[in-house]
Amino acid sequence: KVRVRFAPSPTGALHIGGVRTALFNYLFVKKHGGDFILRIEDTDQNRYVEGAEQYIIDSLNWCNMPYDEGPGKEKGFGPYRQSERKHIYKKYADELISKGKAYYAFDTAEKLDFHRKDHEAKGKTFIYNWHNRMKLVNSLSLSQEELQAKLNAGEAYVIRFKSPQDQKLHLKDTIRGAITIDTNILDDKVLFKSDGMPTYHLANIVDDHLMEISHVIRGEEWLPSLALHQLLYDAFDWEAPEFAHLPLIMKPVGKGKLSKRDGEKLGFPVFPLSWKDSVGYKEAGYFPEAVVNFLALLGWNPGTEQEIFSLNELIESFSLERVNKSGARFDPEKTKWYNQYYLQQKQDSQLAELFAENIKDRPVDSSLVANITYLEKIVSLIKERATFVSDFWNLSDYFFIPPAAYGEKALKKQWKEDTPDIMNKLITVLESISSFSSLNVEKIVKEWITEQELSFGKVMPPLRLVIVGDMKGPHIFDILALIGKEQSISRIKKAIE
Ligand code: GLU
Repeated sequence: KVRVRFAPSPTGALHIGGVRTALFNYLFVKKHGGDFILRIEDTDQNRYVEGAEQYIIDSLNWCNMPYDEGPGKEKGFGPYRQSERKHIYKKYADELISKGKAYYAFDTAEKLDFHRKDHEAKGKTFIYNWHNRMKLVNSLSLSQEELQAKLNAGEAYVIRFKSPQDQKLHLKDTIRGAITIDTNILDDKVLFKSDGMPTYHLANIVDDHLMEISHVIRGEEWLPSLALHQLLYDAFDWEAPEFAHLPLIMKPVGKGKLSKRDGEKLGFPVFPLSWKDSVGYKEAGYFPEAVVNFLALLGWNPGTEQEIFSLNELIESFSLERVNKSGARFDPEKTKWYNQYYLQQKQDSQLAELFAENIKDRPVDSSLVANITYLEKIVSLIKERATFVSDFWNLSDYFFIPPAAYGEKALKKQWKEDTPDIMNKLITVLESISSFSSLNVEKIVKEWITEQELSFGKVMPPLRLVIVGDMKGPHIFDILALIGKEQSISRIKKAIE
């Protein structure tokens, strides 16, 4: 059975790159009919941030990728928070010690720091491994009696992995193919800390094994840990899952990976939901479908020109084989393009509800805001120019309030000496119309223009100017019909007073 896990550490808000990792796990596992597991990797108590776990869960839900198993959804492999699994790990560390694959180390932080600096001074890097092991204080360098004495005295220790010397490790990554690593470059990573907690490496491997994870799909920043992880599986005699390391998401401009600062500099969200001072995609007005769609194409390519994918279509088309090796450049403009697309796909009734919510605090006639049918009609006229629901107001304020001023340039160009007189006559025409529909008003006004031998240019632009306030907006007769006869006439009157 295919089982994948998303295993964030609750150290803050989930970055958009983390959401992409979750998404690729989700798409892969849904395609194969498996289980999507959320595991909270909170073994590092110092970095724990209150609220981060809930934030992660809310983000997954907002993106419509709820987990099948995890905190609050126990399915027999729990608990799903590593802090609640504390009691599990020690025996695995002990198992490695008894197999000779790991050892106790008693070096103090000060001593290690001294070695590091000492090496640096000689232009070398200190690595705690086969090369230096014997010069340090650990089960390998101490005699059996010395070791026992330290353990009996309750001296603080960590448990380190004994990385092998002079071996070529053959690793496999679904995205990157075969990787060969020389074990001499590896250090003896700490597996178990003196505070009684496992490190990420031990807890991660033990949990992936116990939770029967079949595929590990995670960010490229974990690729350097792959050798150790494979060695750990081998040391335990466990079958390793398949690994796939996803390419980084790169800055929109320049080199390096996308950071929170890029978002601040260029003004785009880097978090799915708002977190402290940072506005999230949700609050910035993005639809989750848009976010999911653009994230899917950051690092994965469908092999066709298709750019628009629903979540179900993504599940259908996704494969790890089509995930790129190289980093994917983040394009904030493209995220907007997606949002605009998804906005146009929404029902006008749904957009009207969102619009009502968006303008509820505006100082406008509340009966208009409460009139969903009215909002729906407005939305249908202006939405094609909008990227976000929050754009609606600027595109349609004249449906709620008469223009406070007229565009200067337009006024100069369109308002002639005879305009007031023409507008005055137009009022009479409008007054006479009993069925004030767009089509009917258009028909009657146009007939009147022809009859009077007036040019369209003398009537239509000034009319738009007094109704809308500038030379913008949809079909003018649609606007007249919607704001109604009385309001239309009152705006013309006000202009020629
Ligand atoms: N806890 C790790 C993280 O925060 C998980 C890495 C992994 O998926 O193995 O990304």
